[in-house]
Amino acid sequence: MRRISVFGSTGSIGQSTLDLIGRAADNYHVVALTGGQNIALLAQQAKQHRAEIAVTADPERLGALREALAGSGIKAAAGQGALVEAATRPADWVMSAIVGAAGLAPGLKALEQGATLALANKESMVAAGALMLRMAKDHNARILPVDSEHSAVFQALIGEDIAAVERVIITASGGAFRDWPIERLAHATPEQAATHPNWDMGQRITIDSASMFNKALELIETREFFGLSPEKIETVVHPESLVHALVGFNDGALMAHVGPPDMRHAIGFALNWPERQELPVARLDLASIGTLSFRKACEDRYPALRLAREVMQAGGLSGAVFNAAKEQALDGFIAGEIGFTDMPGVVEDVLTQISGRPGHIHAEFTLDNVSRLDHLARQTAREVIGRLGNGRK
Ligand code: NAD
Ligand code: MG
Repeated sequence: MRRISVFGSTGSIGQSTLDLIGRAADNYHVVALTGGQNIALLAQQAKQHRAEIAVTADPERLGALREALAGSGIKAAAGQGALVEAATRPADWVMSAIVGAAGLAPGLKALEQGATLALANKESMVAAGALMLRMAKDHNARILPVDSEHSAVFQALIGEDIAAVERVIITASGGAFRDWPIERLAHATPEQAATHPNWDMGQRITIDSASMFNKALELIETREFFGLSPEKIETVVHPESLVHALVGFNDGALMAHVGPPDMRHAIGFALNWPERQELPVARLDLASIGTLSFRKACEDRYPALRLAREVMQAGGLSGAVFNAAKEQALDGFIAGEIGFTDMPGVVEDVLTQISGRPGHIHAEFTLDNVSRLDHLARQTAREVIGRLGNGRK
């Protein structure tokens, strides 16, 4: 029996993970499941999978969770401290699928226990890649990528020498507005941005796909995860979302990973690794697909890509600043305080302000320093958004 915990089990990735676990329930013992506001779903999942403990991130919902689990024998807990504590429960495989920087502390704690961490939470790699890798190394733990592009690269690299890699290309669908004229983007609404042409995902990552901030995070994630220099990492728009990534080698070969846009492939790959086992994903019929198309990912349309490149060059703790400023800008857009095309400007302004202060992004790579910079970046972003919002009135 493998002991499994799922952080963010009520989200899109969390539900897909439990779908796979449920298909082979006899092989797994579910330790901890965690969610946020959706108590009914969290309690239902905990009962169905006979979890030891269910944790909601929201302390005000502890009563509701206790009530929903009454008589089941499943422990209920709430709050950030309880999330991290749940990650100390012994588990062999832990899915990190909380959205945002909130996924960092539980992920690090799971690595500290020596667990295999299936990492959907790209934000923790962007904000604190060096810390995640160090923790994994020190505790003989392993991080397996679950982002589809990074799973694809990981698979293309099996049996290969990373020194022979010339370039890695991760594909981008282009998101909701890929065919809009640039002039219209300033008026895009959160509802329009939250509709993805190919993938069914949580609201935040879907909007990040439309702005390409998701791809920007993924470029940085590629650098951190595989230790590649920034100039070897590229992105290309691929509207069909069937080729997830390509790895180019020094002999000119380009290995592509092709599959349907269904996250259960990447999740299942991480779950079954180092073996491959059958997964319930559609098999592609290439003749009926006919054509795969690619186009340049233009930085005029997607300034987030340029910012990602700058962050990769700057290194240090700039990823933590970038991620936090991006999360805050996204909140501002969702709340209607700033427009869609204001988001990159907010992030750039925050990066400039904070990198300008000596010592900051080159402070020592500790969780405390990451949290401090995350906090500072959010506060700075709030000020920038406040000024922009006033300007709009
Ligand atoms: P989602 O919004 O559907 O789910 C997020 C989960 O995190 C929920 O369980 C929610 O309750 C929990 N959560 C939210 N805020 C929290 C907080 N402050 N503290 C603790 N828990 C909190 O998101 P998702 O689409 O499943 O994405 C999850 C992660 O996986 C993200 O990092 C995303 O970038 C990444 N990812 C998602 C996909 C996808 O297809 N959905 C693909 C690749 C990577
Ligand atoms: Mg991805």
